[in-house]
Amino acid sequence: MDKLNPPDETVLQVVVPRPLPAPLDYLPPADGLQPPAPGQRIRVPLGRSRCLGLIVGTRTRSAHPQPLKRALALIDPEPVLDARQLELGRWLTRYYHHAPGEAYLALLPPTLRHDREATGTAPAPYWRATATGRALAEQPDALPRAPRQRELLHQLAASPPGVAGPMLRARHGGGYLAVLRRLVAAELAEPCAPPTVHTPEMSRETPAPTLTDEQTAAVEALQATLGRFQPTLLEGVTGSGKTEVYLQLARRVLAAGGQVLILVPEIALTPQLLERFRQRLGVAVAALHSGTPAGERQRWWQAAAAGRVAVIVGTRSAVLTPLARPGLIIVDEEHDGAYKQQDGLRYHARDVAVWRARQLGVPVVLGSATPSLESLHNATRGRYAHLHLTARPTPHPPPALRLVDVRALPLTDGLSPPLLQAIDRHLAAAGQILLFQNRRGYAPILRCHACGWTAGCEHCDARLTLHRGTSERLICHHCTRRYAPPTACPACAATPLDMIGFGTARLEETLADCFPQARIARLDRDSTRRAGTLAQLLTAARQGEIDILIGTQMLAKGHDFPRVTLAGVIDADHGLFGADFRAGERMGQLIVQVAGRAGRAASAGEVLIQTHHPTHPLLQTLLAGGYPGFAAALLAEREAACWPPFSHLALLRAEASRPAQALAFLTAAAEVLPSAPTAQLLGPVPAPMERRQGRYRAQLLVQSTRREVLQRLLHRWLPGVRALPTAGRVRWSVDVEPQDLL
Ligand code: ADP
Ligand code: ZN
Ligand code: ZN
Repeated sequence: MDKLNPPDETVLQVVVPRPLPAPLDYLPPADGLQPPAPGQRIRVPLGRSRCLGLIVGTRTRSAHPQPLKRALALIDPEPVLDARQLELGRWLTRYYHHAPGEAYLALLPPTLRHDREATGTAPAPYWRATATGRALAEQPDALPRAPRQRELLHQLAASPPGVAGPMLRARHGGGYLAVLRRLVAAELAEPCAPPTVHTPEMSRETPAPTLTDEQTAAVEALQATLGRFQPTLLEGVTGSGKTEVYLQLARRVLAAGGQVLILVPEIALTPQLLERFRQRLGVAVAALHSGTPAGERQRWWQAAAAGRVAVIVGTRSAVLTPLARPGLIIVDEEHDGAYKQQDGLRYHARDVAVWRARQLGVPVVLGSATPSLESLHNATRGRYAHLHLTARPTPHPPPALRLVDVRALPLTDGLSPPLLQAIDRHLAAAGQILLFQNRRGYAPILRCHACGWTAGCEHCDARLTLHRGTSERLICHHCTRRYAPPTACPACAATPLDMIGFGTARLEETLADCFPQARIARLDRDSTRRAGTLAQLLTAARQGEIDILIGTQMLAKGHDFPRVTLAGVIDADHGLFGADFRAGERMGQLIVQVAGRAGRAASAGEVLIQTHHPTHPLLQTLLAGGYPGFAAALLAEREAACWPPFSHLALLRAEASRPAQALAFLTAAAEVLPSAPTAQLLGPVPAPMERRQGRYRAQLLVQSTRREVLQRLLHRWLPGVRALPTAGRVRWSVDVEPQDLL
């Protein structure tokens, strides 16, 4: 039957969850019940099996010379994606050069990425008791001969805003509809609108503080952008009250009937932020993050798509949430690396947020104390408006940074006398102390003093970190493999082996020896693995139950710890000589963010930074010019070297089980690159960490000063790369605007 491809029959363009470069063509299902529409999910045959598909377009005749297969059946009666979401899917596919199946399906909550019918895609019908019904339900002998009606009526009467159909079915079984119909006929029950989504902890609005003049000016400037596309960089020093500005602006959007989408790098680290939005806006807030259960995620997603929830706060993937009444998008801590997805569809949520704001015609606010060089550059060029909050509303400005030159000083497990004295002083004054060290575990290196052997991972080009707990073990932080520590050097049999360097666990131990009376806690991935411990630690720190908090970059994430008076950076030298061109930028952001935790409330703060390179120009500009001066110096360097944001990059990564394979593939890929005078090729070269998880890795960088040139080049080049005979034998991927080159 299908052999003819009837010329006037619609052809469906369907994406499937497979890494295929383009949508597939199908004929509509034979049942002919309903003309399929773009945005609908559909079951299709694929090879010998069947799978979920999403219709992304239709056309009247296929370009396909072969007869087409027929789709099996529509999965839901209505589209799950609207035209704007489909447009977003198309853009993600093209801009990130990613398989359309994965790009479009990323727009759906995980529960809808299977070929099962969506429960409650359309708002579920709601039912409630009428006034007569409620009165009757109170009678002890109501409906004596209809126990099922009585039971159902009691359930409805107990919930005045209404009960969803599926809830009734869950309790009364499939026959509930017949029972319900009888109640409706007797005017004891009636259908009603679904209640707006509430969360149990919803509370009334709490009053706002009086804004500072700078905050007021920022709110007014931003308010003038409502109703149209306008990106704004809100650069405010740490603790300057950026969140207050978001809140005031959000209130105005809500009052005008709009929805507000707020992106944060990580919700677990800033639980108080969610609470602040709930309390201050007095409305339900959808929370979308990795900890949100799948069912709840789907309900919020549907509520957002239907306009039934007005405030959505979420991490990276929340940027893809559909909005029925878009009003405002906010990206908090816009510089944070967590916004970049590092596998699969490698999107940057900040960039997607700006694209969506343009599509939806709404303003987007990018907030940070330490903006990314990309955003600063856009602000300088006038593409983004630039607002500043230079002061804190609290009595003390952000503390000045002070370097501690540790070169000639005696160190106690990495801690210098000036830092130890400062800790002592702040403890005596009942201040809280925050210490930052970006190494977890006990010791980053285990080394033989006799021959220089160091413990390395068998599967990665990386050293093993010594962890101590109930037992000692060596752990690879790149592939998570564990090894028993050797008792003697495997190379020369010497004993004992030296522990080099200081992880957070070792510093915690040292601090406990130095300050036995202090209450010390550690904040890193190891100490917060158990559910609930992170929240407990953060609460304890805020309430002053911890005197010294030592931690990794988890400390740098926008926390409002009012009692911190001293912040210390144990080792600033890490970022000074990093392999990546962004290493300096990241180091500056971390230092300023950690420092910004100090002196936020009643007492002034102090910040000490230990370094072996006190005269390093990067540290010197950070000290002299603060983050703005530091960023300006980095931008000048990037411009001279023609790195982003003065050029655009795409990284082709490959990995394979044999050493030369990945490099050979990239060499072949470089040979099929169409010539483009305004683009350069850098590489291919082995990756900075060549072996990882037992695989050999290589990379090839394409660079152009013009985004469109790079994009056009990728569109012409990648089909040729896919067609290479070796393309199926290595794992390879494209990363557009990569955040790191490791
Ligand atoms: P940021 O997001 O810029 O780091 P926050 O918005 O968290 O800063 O504000 C830092 C602290 O200052 C918070 O405790 C907040 O409640 C307080 N705050 C902000 N604005 C004001 C204001 N206008 N008056 C008094 N306190 C304020
Ligand atoms: Zn040895
Ligand atoms: Zn490893």
